Amino acid sequence: VYILGIESSCDDTSASVICDAKVLSNVVANQEVHSKYGGVVPELASRAHQQNIVPVVQQAIEKANITKEDLSAIAFTRGPGLMGSLLVGTSFAKSLALGLEIPLIDVNHMQAHILAHFIHDNENKTPPFPFICLTISGGHTQIVKITNYFEMEILGETIDDAVGEAFDKSAKILGLPYPGGPLIDKYAQLGNPKAFPFTKPKVGDLDFSFSGLKTGILYFIQKQQRINANFIEENLHDICASIQYTIVEILMEKLRNAVKQTDIKHIAIAGGVSANSEIRKRLQLAEKHFGWTTYIPKFEYTTDNAAMIAITGYLKYLNNDYSNVSVTAKARLKVTE
Ligand code: ATP
Ligand code: FE
Repeated sequence: VYILGIESSCDDTSASVICDAKVLSNVVANQEVHSKYGGVVPELASRAHQQNIVPVVQQAIEKANITKEDLSAIAFTRGPGLMGSLLVGTSFAKSLALGLEIPLIDVNHMQAHILAHFIHDNENKTPPFPFICLTISGGHTQIVKITNYFEMEILGETIDDAVGEAFDKSAKILGLPYPGGPLIDKYAQLGNPKAFPFTKPKVGDLDFSFSGLKTGILYFIQKQQRINANFIEENLHDICASIQYTIVEILMEKLRNAVKQTDIKHIAIAGGVSANSEIRKRLQLAEKHFGWTTYIPKFEYTTDNAAMIAITGYLKYLNNDYSNVSVTAKARLKVTE
């Protein structure tokens, strides 16, 4: 079974061909235009998707060494995401499926971040059910219990900002370009994580809050800069290490709570922030310290990519779970929908 996956929910245009659960190609076109604006500009994202989608899909098919007539179905991201961006992928997927007379499969982007763990790969192990997934991305921070491929329950989530936003907004305060998460990670490697203690938020149970931390960082930096105008330049590595340490501490604490509550010790991470080196390291340590079995995605399946859409499409294909051509994009979509 060959599935073409198409992802266009935010600012990356991506297409992937998989053969059963094996990835044959996974082409991602990043959009450079947003970096100078300090965030994604929806109108520009939509236009860039329109320019990218045909060549990206063509490349994915070529790299997979098949022709489009070999495809068994087309999977696309229905939501959540930016409406203008989703519409490009949705309309393209629909017309291609109609033209080729093959099934169309709509995919929930948040389920796909999680189900990327079911891509077959010699290096990766696949989590058994039930498992817990910490989804950490640009728009979401959730602890999800996965009982079966499409049976999920949100155990906790952020009440304000997502963890990716916490990274990106902190980076912006430090004058770093968008998206700042990977840069904080890079500079943090050279700094002392205990240099500057930031206050952790107090939110109940398995929920998260990051807006207070962001404000705390802003006030701290402003105060230090009044004393020393070069504070950021002189302490960039320590500041980044301290911010990253605080964020990862928050994530690990909530995961420990989730394990306590559910008694499930199979722990996965997913989403763009799961590329972060500190959370990956800490999760590996948790195998030794707490006896967890952890599932860490390959880098190319952390941030937005179409391979995760294709694998989710494949799992739906096996259930004959197809969509109607009247299916519409949905900007807001819960992982459980
Ligand atoms: P969502 O999936 O919730 O709709 P999204 O698709 O925009 O959001 P992703 O592509 O999954 O989000 O993740 C992007 C986020 O990941 C950005 O906030 C980026 O800064 C962050 N990120 C990527 N790499 C790292 C890293 N190494 N360390 C920290 N954050 C990172
Ligand atoms: Fe995403």
